[in-house]
Amino acid sequence: MKQYVVVGNPVAHSRSPFIHAAFAAQFDIHLSYQPLLAPLDAFADTIAQFFERGMGANVTVPFKEEALTFADVVNDAARLAGAANTLSRQAGKIVADNTDGIGLLRDLTVNYQLHLAGQSILLLGAGGAARGVIAPLLAEKPARLTIANRTHTRAEALCAVFAASAAEHGSVLDARALDELQQAYDLVINATSASLQGEGIYLEPHIFSEKTVAYDMMYGAEDSPFMKLALACGARGALDGLGMLVEQAAESFYLWHGVRPETASVIRDLRLQLLLELGL
Ligand code: NDP
Repeated sequence: MKQYVVVGNPVAHSRSPFIHAAFAAQFDIHLSYQPLLAPLDAFADTIAQFFERGMGANVTVPFKEEALTFADVVNDAARLAGAANTLSRQAGKIVADNTDGIGLLRDLTVNYQLHLAGQSILLLGAGGAARGVIAPLLAEKPARLTIANRTHTRAEALCAVFAASAAEHGSVLDARALDELQQAYDLVINATSASLQGEGIYLEPHIFSEKTVAYDMMYGAEDSPFMKLALACGARGALDGLGMLVEQAAESFYLWHGVRPETASVIRDLRLQLLLELGL
């Protein structure tokens, strides 16, 4: 049986084994997909040992950057993201990809039918997840993409990296401090890990209007502090990142197996699981 893993630390909480098992069942593909805990100082050894027999690995926190240096071949999405969430063994070489960006875009534009061309987008955060979605967001040709981060210099650094791409797509790309945001945005994406830590993030209420959709990359059974804040400030909707999670997995599945799984039923089942775990 072909072997796949999701490697991280911690990793026991990962939903990826459930998602890939559900996808595989759609095509009657028999595979093994397991969580793989790598010691913090031994990612390379752990993953090298796995790839002696394994076919593919999803990579999660905190190894996404290290996964890039481990690979023999780095595809465009991973290079632009500066991180890899998918490793594949192809003709004896390890190939790095990043499917987080396409996962977010599919959730926004296919599942939620949002049109991003000509829109103003605010991206909160400048870590790995934020960096991974900038190129796919710019490819949708938004009028403006603002990056705002607690550590302002990191937002500025990302602006410099993607300046040429923004110009190519006719988008304004700028970096702002969190307390210097002056306008309301059509879409506000939270790519910080503040919600993960159960923390709120200080935001000026006027970034949200009745036209704003708020999207938190984090997901859960209940609305995150960011989603609650957006709705309290008048946003027209607040979405979480469960769809992004399933869509990035679907793209990894496609890279490994050459077929695209149906995702809506898997998102629905996971949503139900989250609610049941919370006892709702
Ligand atoms: P990183 O650790 O790389 O980056 C964390 C970011 O959050 C930094 O920009 C950091 O700012 C900011 N931050 C952390 N705490 C706070 C706070 N209290 N207030 C304001 N800003 C804060 O994490 P990732 O980029 O890998 O992940 C970010 C989020 O995205 C996580 O919640 C993760 O679960 C989610 N994610 C979801 C995916 C999905 O499929 N749904 C896929 C990938 C990620 P600073 O630079 O100042 O430290």
